[in-house]
Amino acid sequence: MRNNSLKEIVKAFKKHDDYLLSTHISPDGDGIGSELALGFGLKKLGKKVAIANSDPFPANYEFLPCNGILKNREEIKNTYGVAVSLECPSLNRVGKLKKNFLKSGMIMNLDHHMSNDYFGDYNYVDEGAAAVGEQVFDILVGLGVKLDLNIATCLYTSLLTDTGSFSYSNTTRRTHEIVIELMKYGVNPSDVNQNVYEVSSLGKIKLLGKALNSLQVDDKYGIAWTVLTKEAFAKTGTTYSDSEGVINYARSIKGINVAISFTEISGGKVKISFRSKRDEVDVNKIALFFNGGGHKRASGALQEGTLKEVKESVLIKAIDVIKGVSAGKKLLSEIKSCAASAKMKR
Ligand code: 5GP
Repeated sequence: MRNNSLKEIVKAFKKHDDYLLSTHISPDGDGIGSELALGFGLKKLGKKVAIANSDPFPANYEFLPCNGILKNREEIKNTYGVAVSLECPSLNRVGKLKKNFLKSGMIMNLDHHMSNDYFGDYNYVDEGAAAVGEQVFDILVGLGVKLDLNIATCLYTSLLTDTGSFSYSNTTRRTHEIVIELMKYGVNPSDVNQNVYEVSSLGKIKLLGKALNSLQVDDKYGIAWTVLTKEAFAKTGTTYSDSEGVINYARSIKGINVAISFTEISGGKVKISFRSKRDEVDVNKIALFFNGGGHKRASGALQEGTLKEVKESVLIKAIDVIKGVSAGKKLLSEIKSCAASAKMKR
């Protein structure tokens, strides 16, 4: 249950030969890019690798190379020497692959979420990494893998998407240094950007319209939220992955500290996403309360219940957390002014 060093992880990868790689349910650019890059890198070292996920890739990631390595769940073996999860804070996040993980020789957990519960036999969790793609870059370099255009494109996609096109606060000098390295292999940022962000279906844009129509704002606490019903997806012919990015519109409103999206999915469940604009509001705390997790400024959870029920309980908790932040700030300024007046009296 401890965190391993990069050196230990590299050593473990050198030792073993038979891998299953998976990312989380509803895979995103970081999960997909990092698993493909790691998979191609391990294959270059002569290892056996299969990648399988609980859900298919969203259409905007289909441009990434995946021939011969990405399998349907039905095609994979029950058990592998090592099952590696990428970008999963808990084992449940690999979804339908969980049984293959539990049957495999060992589990390796590669992640950058602060809410990670260290479920692996090996854990390489780095909250400071902007994307798991950064960690995979370091692993591949440590393994002495010669990068190529395919691997570099997958890693670039991972970094691009998890940093909001290098705009979020998780973007570091290290992120840019890795990008410089990747560009040496011929990655074309403009091409990747076009493939990822400029391939929306008409349905996706109409879904965005429905989400924006549902937008509500609480000025007092600085919360904005959107709601997408199952009917909205049916009417626009879209699926959950088409709602990616909707929440950023709510977050971009002036004066908003916390943005929330409520999405009705199958099985009587609601998927909740949280984003915060200011570092003081830790939305991971809200997500953890609902058995979810993520990062300080981007987190999510899944709840059973109707949209109305889930919305009410989540908004109450969000207000609690925001009030806690305001109370903390008030206390801090009182302490500071007390200290200042004490100094003046001296
Ligand atoms: P999103 O809102 O885009 O689905 O996810 C934002 C962040 O929260 C991502 O880093 C994602 O991995 C994490 N996250 C989303 N949903 C869940 C969840 O149900 N459980 C946990 N533990 N993390 C989640």
